[in-house]
Amino acid sequence: MQARAFQLSRTGGPDVLEWRTLELSPPHGSDALVRHTAIGLNLIDTYHRSGLYPIALPSGLGSEAAGVIAAVGPGVSTVKVGDRVVYAGGGLGSYADVRLIPSERLVVIPDEISDEHAAAVFLKGMTAWYLLYHSYPVKAGDVVLVYAAAGGVGSLLCQWAQHLGVTVIGVVSTERKADLARESGCEHVVLTDEPDIAARVRELTNGKGVAAVYDSIGRDTFTASLDSLQPHGVMVSYGNASGIPDPISPMELGRRHSLYLTRPVLFDFISTRGELLSAAKAVFDLMAADVLRVHIGQRYELENAVQAHRDIEARRTVGSTVLIP
Ligand code: NDP
Repeated sequence: MQARAFQLSRTGGPDVLEWRTLELSPPHGSDALVRHTAIGLNLIDTYHRSGLYPIALPSGLGSEAAGVIAAVGPGVSTVKVGDRVVYAGGGLGSYADVRLIPSERLVVIPDEISDEHAAAVFLKGMTAWYLLYHSYPVKAGDVVLVYAAAGGVGSLLCQWAQHLGVTVIGVVSTERKADLARESGCEHVVLTDEPDIAARVRELTNGKGVAAVYDSIGRDTFTASLDSLQPHGVMVSYGNASGIPDPISPMELGRRHSLYLTRPVLFDFISTRGELLSAAKAVFDLMAADVLRVHIGQRYELENAVQAHRDIEARRTVGSTVLIP
C-alpha cells in the first residue's frame, strides 16, 4: 500500500515540507489504517515544522484528521473497518492521504457530524474543553480574557465560555476578526494595536481585572496578561504564536496579588482512553446542540499545505482550516 504524504528531513520555513510517496505495511498489533477525508490544520504544526517544538527527523507532520478505517491489525477491538473516525495525537503524520495509527487514539464520529467538521473541531474543541474545565474551571459570572478570539481554538473557547455564563473579552488583530469574535460570543473586543491592553481590560472590568487569561500568543502578550488579572487570578499560557515567553520570577505572581500560572498541554488531559472519550463526547454533544458552531474559514488541497502554513503564520486565517486529500 502506498501513501502520499508530507515529510520533513529538516526543520525551518514552510518550504521544508516535502511531498513524498511512502510504502506502508499492513497494520499490525493494535494499529489501524485510516484513509483520510479531511485533515485539521493547527498552529502547532508550524511549531513542529519550524523546530520551535523539537521533533525527531525525518518525520511526518500534522496531529489531527478524520477518515474511514480501511484495515485493522489483529489486536484492534475498539473500532472496525468502515468506521468513520477522527483523532488528535498518536504521532505526527496526519498530512497524508492514508496512514497507520494506534487504534486507541481513534474516536468514532457521530452520524450527525461530517468528517470535515470533525477534523475542523476535534483537537481545538478538546483544547477549549480542558482550558474551561481543568486549567481554570470557569463559573457563571466570571469575566475572562481570550486572545486570538477569531482563530481556531479561540472562537470555540469563546462560544463555549459564553454558553457557561462567562463574559468574554476577546483580543484580535483586525476589525473583520472583531466581528467574528463578537459572533462567537465576545461581549467586548480589544484590538491588538491597543497601546495598553491591560489598562483597557481594567476599564472594561471597572478596575477589577479578569478571573483568568487564556493566552495563546506567548512572548508578546505575557506581561499584559499578568497585568490584566484580578487578585488570585489564573494565567493560562497555552500557546506561543509570537514565541515562547521569557522566564519570570515567582515574585511577579506575588506582587500582582497571588496569581496562579499554568502551562497546560492538551495531550496530558486526554492521555487515557477514558479521558479521550469524555473530552470527545463533550465536544460532539455541544456541536450537535449547535453551541459549538463550526467555522471553516479556509480549505486547501492537502498538496497545498505549504500555502496553508504561510497563511496561518501570517495571521491571514480565521476559524478552523482543513486540508483535503
Ligand atoms: P489560530 O487559528 O488561533 O491562529 C493563530 C492566531 O494567533 C492568529 O490568527 C492570530 O490572531 C494570533 N497571533 C498573534 N500573534 C501571532 C503571530 N506572531 N503569529 C501568528 N499568529 C499570531 O491557531 P490554532 O487555533 O491552531 O491555535 C491557537 C493557539 O492555541 C496556538 O497558540 C496553539 O499553539 C495553541 N494550542 C495549544 C494547545 C495546548 O494544549 N497547549 C492545543 C492546541 C492549540 P490575531 O491576528 O487575531 O492576533
